[in-house]
Amino acid sequence: MQVCVIGTGYVGLVTGACLAHIGHRVLCVDNIKAKVELMQSGKSPIYEPGLDEIMQSAMARGNLEFTTDLAAGVAHGDILFIAVGTPALPTGESDTRYVEAVARGIGTYLNGGYKVIVNKSTVPIGSGDWVRRIVLDGVAEREAEIAGFDVVSNPEFLREGSAVYDTFNPDRLVLGSNSPRAIAMMQELYQPLVERKFAQDKSLTPVPVVITDLSSAETIKYAANSFLATKISFINEVANICDRVGADITQVAQGIGLDTRIGSKFLQAGIGWGGSCFPKDVSALIHTADDYGYSADLLKAAVAVNQQQKYLAIAKLQQTLKILKGKTIGLLGLTFKPNTDDLRDAPALDLIKELLRLGAKVKAYDPIITKENLEITLTHSPKELAADCDALVLVTDWQEFIELDYAELAHKMRYPVIIDGRNCLNPQSLAAAGFTYVGIGRPNKTVQQLVTA
Ligand code: NAD
Repeated sequence: MQVCVIGTGYVGLVTGACLAHIGHRVLCVDNIKAKVELMQSGKSPIYEPGLDEIMQSAMARGNLEFTTDLAAGVAHGDILFIAVGTPALPTGESDTRYVEAVARGIGTYLNGGYKVIVNKSTVPIGSGDWVRRIVLDGVAEREAEIAGFDVVSNPEFLREGSAVYDTFNPDRLVLGSNSPRAIAMMQELYQPLVERKFAQDKSLTPVPVVITDLSSAETIKYAANSFLATKISFINEVANICDRVGADITQVAQGIGLDTRIGSKFLQAGIGWGGSCFPKDVSALIHTADDYGYSADLLKAAVAVNQQQKYLAIAKLQQTLKILKGKTIGLLGLTFKPNTDDLRDAPALDLIKELLRLGAKVKAYDPIITKENLEITLTHSPKELAADCDALVLVTDWQEFIELDYAELAHKMRYPVIIDGRNCLNPQSLAAAGFTYVGIGRPNKTVQQLVTA
């Protein structure tokens, strides 16, 4: 099918490249010229495992092209995906100006045959109707010349760091529209994915397709992210209780996660959730509820717990080092999770700001982030990071950090203290390597045993 994807960020570029890979003819549009030129040369402007490879093979087959020309994109696509950013405004509302600009552009250039306009961006509930009106305004007196269009909400659930895998192996697809014709075109588009032709495990049953009205599809996206964020805040709250009563959250999480009603995913306690989706999507849902006179207290509590959690590493550093002024703290990782270069709303940013406010010096090592305007020293290796540090904080659970030679790092440090902000290290191994190990909700068993004895 002829597809146009407008906005080539984490969602748009992965969607465009994967649809081209499965055989559709895709033209991706972005309004940043330098980005488009880079993609035209077969390189992805973002770090996402496997993306360069599928881009290059789809481009070689002539299935994937890039342009800054929205008019060309609208003319090319029978299906037009809107995949631009919807960041949070300071009020917590979603900033929909980029979606609005694209919808206006589509309205201006719409011509020829019937088109399906797909909201792939995470947009406030009700945006499907709003986009339709904007496009109609743009079409204005040309309405008789066009063959019509419908709007579909097709929220995206991919995870940064495994976005290509997730696109080929989705848990479900959600299609929201009241137009059977538009839904039928979307089903045709996704048929190879539904039949798992490009999935890792092709023997599984077909991918469930949830067909809904527009606002239910929009709500599904916000509800899914709000649930996951709340689940993490829940386990973090239990971890904070574990810290006080002497229980171990990793054992507690295992014990509750085996209950199939609960499930073991998203039960890893740590220094809080972040990234470009959870914070903005939870606050957008809270905001929508407020607009309708309903106070979403559970979601507000999930945000409040997370806000505290982001500073938990500081409290633990203070308990261990007492004074942070003048001390050097090394951060292992900066992004909110491994395998991504996305720093938006990463908990590390709040941590850095607070450490600097308290007078600490901050260094960091990240396997991908090598240049950032962060007022900290970025080092080139964990060894360089550890040199003369008073403590390390493991911020991101990169596999490479789990496999480090911690005994070697301990020798380089002024005080071998580590706050394991993701509970991904083995406390006994770290102690054997000479570290004072502090986890999240994993109280120091040696001290506890002494007290019990
Ligand atoms: P992003 O910021 O990485 O990419 C947005 C892209 O749109 C940029 O390349 C930008 O240059 C381009 N753009 C902006 N205005 C444009 C215009 N007028 N014309 C053409 N291009 C334009 O955003 P993202 O992370 O890919 O997120 C996109 C949407 O998908 C958001 O609504 C987000 O909430 C949602 N989403 C993101 C993820 C994720 O993991 N990042 C997952 C699911 C859903």
